[in-house]
Amino acid sequence: PSTRDKSDILYTDALTHIVGGVNSPSRSFKAVGGGAPVYMERGDGAYFYDVDGNRYIDYLAAYGPIITGHAHPHIHKALIEASSKGLLYGTPHALEVEFAKKLKAAIPSMDKVRFTNSGTEAVMTTVRVARAYTGRELVVKFSGCYHGHSDLMLIAAGSGPATLGSPDSAGVTRATAKEVITVPFNDVEAFRDMMREWGSQIACVLVEPIVGNFGIVEPKPGFLQAVNDITHEHGALVIYDEVITAFRFTYGSAQQVYGIEPDMTALGKIIGGGLPIGAYGGKAEIMETVAPLGPAYQAGTMAGNPASMATGLACLEVLEQPGVYEKLDALGAQLEAGIREAADTHGVTITLNRLKGALTVYFTDEIVTDYEGAEKSDGEVFGRFFKLMLENGVNLAPSKYEAWFLTTEHTEQDIEETIAAVNRAFAQL
Ligand code: PMP
Repeated sequence: PSTRDKSDILYTDALTHIVGGVNSPSRSFKAVGGGAPVYMERGDGAYFYDVDGNRYIDYLAAYGPIITGHAHPHIHKALIEASSKGLLYGTPHALEVEFAKKLKAAIPSMDKVRFTNSGTEAVMTTVRVARAYTGRELVVKFSGCYHGHSDLMLIAAGSGPATLGSPDSAGVTRATAKEVITVPFNDVEAFRDMMREWGSQIACVLVEPIVGNFGIVEPKPGFLQAVNDITHEHGALVIYDEVITAFRFTYGSAQQVYGIEPDMTALGKIIGGGLPIGAYGGKAEIMETVAPLGPAYQAGTMAGNPASMATGLACLEVLEQPGVYEKLDALGAQLEAGIREAADTHGVTITLNRLKGALTVYFTDEIVTDYEGAEKSDGEVFGRFFKLMLENGVNLAPSKYEAWFLTTEHTEQDIEETIAAVNRAFAQL
C-alpha cells in the first residue's frame, strides 16, 4: 500500500496559509469524505507522480484542458519559444491574430472573437454583451449547469458549489438571483412555458450543449434545436458555454456535433493547452457591441498573452491530426466496457454516461438526463470508490458529478490497468 505522508504534511501546512488548503474548492476532498488531497509533483503524458513518488493514471486532465496529456512535447516547445521572447506585451501581437483565425475556422458561428483569461470571464462577458445588444436584463440557465463563478452564474450552479451541498453562494445578492431564471436541462416543455411567461424580458439563454458539470449528459434529440427556435422567437440570444465541450468531442465544438449554431459562444480550458485562457465570439453584429467598437466594456491585462496563445495554438495543432478523436472514442469505449463488466461481476449498481473520450459513473440505477438524476448518485459510495481508486493508482476528480477525461496519451494498456483497478475497488465497495 502506498503512503502519502508528504501530501499529508503539505496539506497540514497549506491549511494554515491557504483558505481551505486549496486554490479552488473542487480540489478539496470535502465531497469525498475529507482528508488530505494528493499533492502532485509531476505530470507526464497520461501519468501523474505525487510528492511521495506514487504513480497515478490520470483521468482528471485538470478538469478538462489537458486533452493531449501532461507535458506534451509540442506544447512544451511552443511555450519555451514564446517565453523566450517575453511573457507579456500589453500590445497587439501576431500570435493572437493567428489563433483567432484558427478558432474561427474551427467554430464557424464565430465571426469575431475576443480572448479573456478564464472561462468565467468569457461567460460573464457574453451575458453583458447579450444584455447590451438586446437591451434586456433577464438571463436563463439550466439547473446544475456551471458557467463559472461570476455572481450572476452562481445561481443553481451545479458541480462546483453543488458538490459542497449549497447550490447558491453566500455573498451573491438577492437582487442578482432575481435576474436569473433556471429550468431543468432536457425539458423542452418547461423551457417553452417559462419563455411564454418571461420571453420578452430575456436577454439570453445560456446552454452547455453537452453538459459536463453534473457528469456527461447529452441533449435529448431535438432539445437544442427547440431551445434555439423558442429563444429566437422571443428575440433573445442563445449562448453556448463550450468551455468544457469545445475540442473535447470533435475538432471544433458541439455545434458541429449537432449542426446547431448559437449567437455567441464562450470558450476556455482546452483552447489554452494548459495555460490560463478564455475566449468568446459570435456573430459580427453582436460582437460589435463590444468596446472599442461599441458600448459594452470588457478588458484584460493578461488577455491574449503570447504564452497562452502559443500553447493554445500548439494544442489545436496536435488535435487536428488525423485519428485523434477516433482514438479518444475507442479508448472511451474500451473503458466503458470494462467498467460495465466490473459492475456486473461485483454486483455494483451504476449508470454510465459516455460520449467519446469522456464518461461519468453514477452510483444509481436511474438514467441521468438532468441534474435531478445526477444528484441521485450515491455520494458516500462514490467517496469510497474515489479513495480506493487512488489507492489503486488512478486519479479521478473528487466529485460524484465530474467526468473522467481520456487524453491522446492514454494507451490500451493504461485502460486495462484502470479496469483492473476498478475491479479491485468494486470488490471492496
Ligand atoms: N463554463 C463551464 C462549462 C465550465 O465547466 C467552467 C469550469 N469548470 C467554466 C465555465 C469556468 O471556467 P474557468 O474555471 O476557466 O473560469
